[in-house]
Amino acid sequence: MSILLKNGSLKGEKNVDILIENDKIIKVAPANSIKDDKAEVIDLTGLIVLPGLVDLHTHLREPGREDAETVATGSAAAARGGFTAVHAMANTLPVADTAGVVEQVWNLGKSIGLVDVYPVGAVTIGLKGENLAELSAMADSTARVRIFSDDGHCVSDPVLMRRALEYVKAFNGVIAQHAQEPRLTEGAQMNEGVISGKLGLAGWPAVAEEAIIARDVLLAHHVGSRLHVCHLSTAGSVEIIRWAKSRGINVTAEVTPHHLYFTDDVVESYDPIFKVNPPLRTKADVEAVRAGLADGTINIVATDHAPHPSEDKDCEWTAAAFGMTGLESALGVVYETMVQTGLMNWAAVADRMSVAPAQIGRVSTQGQPIEVGSPANLVIFDPRASQEVDARKTVSASRNTPYAGRTLPGKVVATFYRGKPTVLNGELNA
Ligand SMILES: [Zn+2]
Repeated sequence: MSILLKNGSLKGEKNVDILIENDKIIKVAPANSIKDDKAEVIDLTGLIVLPGLVDLHTHLREPGREDAETVATGSAAAARGGFTAVHAMANTLPVADTAGVVEQVWNLGKSIGLVDVYPVGAVTIGLKGENLAELSAMADSTARVRIFSDDGHCVSDPVLMRRALEYVKAFNGVIAQHAQEPRLTEGAQMNEGVISGKLGLAGWPAVAEEAIIARDVLLAHHVGSRLHVCHLSTAGSVEIIRWAKSRGINVTAEVTPHHLYFTDDVVESYDPIFKVNPPLRTKADVEAVRAGLADGTINIVATDHAPHPSEDKDCEWTAAAFGMTGLESALGVVYETMVQTGLMNWAAVADRMSVAPAQIGRVSTQGQPIEVGSPANLVIFDPRASQEVDARKTVSASRNTPYAGRTLPGKVVATFYRGKPTVLNGELNA
């Protein structure tokens, strides 16, 4: 089977034809120069072509919370958002802290076949922060786990964090830290600041994130290991990462689309759709994370797609679950906050949402250059379109999108996963 993609704008830089045969790119040439009578032709005039997006931080909820999401529904949401790979976080029921659970998730992902599903392994048994999980058993399993995280919880014990960092060096793994000092955030509901004071909600100080990041970059440096910081959200965190990188410390960091887009002003609505961990921050923080992403201090965008059923979100603020969905809206949000603002071009988007996350996750078949011989993992984006987000139209099993009722620019027109169109004309092609 061959597909000829005609006259697409490669990362917004030049117009090309791309010929796909089976699961590979077999030809890339100047626009309208490839002729192939047998190929199915798709006209990409005016559309942007990027490598398939790679999410380093997705909650798929299976096993255990299939009412919120399954590997199948999460894979569908990912494909529709332009992703060809996701990393599934370990806070499932049971927790992904053994080779058995990570292999179960890996096998589910493969059998569904809409995106690559890479399980993240827990750092500690049961995410309890007490004893290290079987990291090497998960690394050696068929799932070949390379990212370990207690996400949802912080590995707050410095001795345990040090041991984990030392341990993963043996198989080139990385510890992805959810940076949240637990004592400083007991009962916290939103960013600590003017708005939390006004609303009377318990505040979540920036220092609770920054103190852990500062400690962990020093620990990573001390033991010569690799640290990844999940969903960084404050201006101070950006400064610490910038300092650490200037010292040659091996650290990478991610920011979520929602921390690029929203400030904590939206919490004044008391709508729990905006309740998230870490919390939405101030305008100064949003400006700092945007600047950090643009200059590469923050390596990647990761969605922290966190589906919840309506009974866990449609309640009063303090009782509601933390988290929001994000796979289907991620590229539109990055387009609006980073590209339309002039902070990044499409080549930088390809780097932050595909190339760099694939490198951090040690995934060799994703985030590859769009050239002959590469796996045909691509997303096709229409920058002239715009869409009002309708939560009822999601293909996720959950509807907790914070963008509902808002209009996001652009639209994912097609996604190709290993040469197969998983999305065509903006709809799932399963
Ligand atoms: Zn987290």
